[in-house]
Amino acid sequence: AKNAGRHQVARLDGRGETAPIARNASIRRRLQHAVASQAFTLNFQPQLDIRSGQYSAVEALLRWTDEELGSVPPNEFIPIMELSGDIHRVGRWVIDRVCEQARLWVDAGVPRRIALNVSPLQLAALTLVPDLTAALARHGIPARLIQVEITESSAIADMPRAIDQLNQLRAAGIGIALDDYGTGHSSLAMLRALPLNVLKIDKSFVDDIDTSTSDALLVGGLISTAHALGLTVTAEGIERMAQLTILRDLGCDTVQGFLIARPTTPGELVAPDVVEVA
Ligand code: C2E
Ligand code: MG
Ligand code: MG
Ligand code: MG
Repeated sequence: AKNAGRHQVARLDGRGETAPIARNASIRRRLQHAVASQAFTLNFQPQLDIRSGQYSAVEALLRWTDEELGSVPPNEFIPIMELSGDIHRVGRWVIDRVCEQARLWVDAGVPRRIALNVSPLQLAALTLVPDLTAALARHGIPARLIQVEITESSAIADMPRAIDQLNQLRAAGIGIALDDYGTGHSSLAMLRALPLNVLKIDKSFVDDIDTSTSDALLVGGLISTAHALGLTVTAEGIERMAQLTILRDLGCDTVQGFLIARPTTPGELVAPDVVEVA
């Protein structure tokens, strides 16, 4: 489904390949419709607590299906929205939608913690704290049901300001995860300075963990470091049981990946029978 958009563009162009600049321009053009008509949806992907075998949270992931382009992945359209400034409007929509969904699950008797991704620009614009607290109040949601995922780039731009924003979120009771850890300007000083609850180890570090001893040792070291800082560790992009077994043995707390579940619509999300780690 992820590649459907690319194929459709290729067909529209009548060529086998789509020029990246033309593709970028069509996305920009179509995004104006999408933002105006709110043609976005959220999918949710569970994070599994390895010890209990139950979901500890679900991550909200933005989806956009356009009439012309088909389904466009967020890694392609989010940078474009960041350049245009649309990220602020869409980011607020994500926050509201997440709180609305949290409310629906509370009312259905299946309260779930939801993790949501925020752009560095939302943090920098100082709108995140008021937007989140307003949405929590509007939907009557306890803050502990919400966790914000930030990336290293959001923090490094202006550290004192980022720390201040994150402290305000924490004071409000909202959890904070550092996403894609290891892919940016990962420094130990930053890890220690930021008020975090969760460290998410990027998929690229766990991809070969079941065949590469050195990768397993490296991830083991990251887990120990995170634990020493009082953080919970989530490993991203787990696709094989062999990876999960090793992560459990290395003391990893939670995992997320296609092995457990793919991102799905809220209706399709089912609580797991307790997942047994081999
Ligand atoms: P992320 O926050 O690191 O999200 C995890 C990405 O990995 C998701 O891609 C998810 O579908 C994918 N994934 C999960 N498990 C597996 C696996 O086992 N194998 C593989 N190959 N992939 C897996 P997705 O949904 O395409 O999102 C990509 C990125 O776009 C996200 O990375 C996040 O940085 C950004 N994003 C998504 N939704 C939002 C949003 O609402 N706001 C902002 N600012 N960024 C978002
Ligand atoms: Mg994330
Ligand atoms: Mg990630
Ligand atoms: Mg990512």
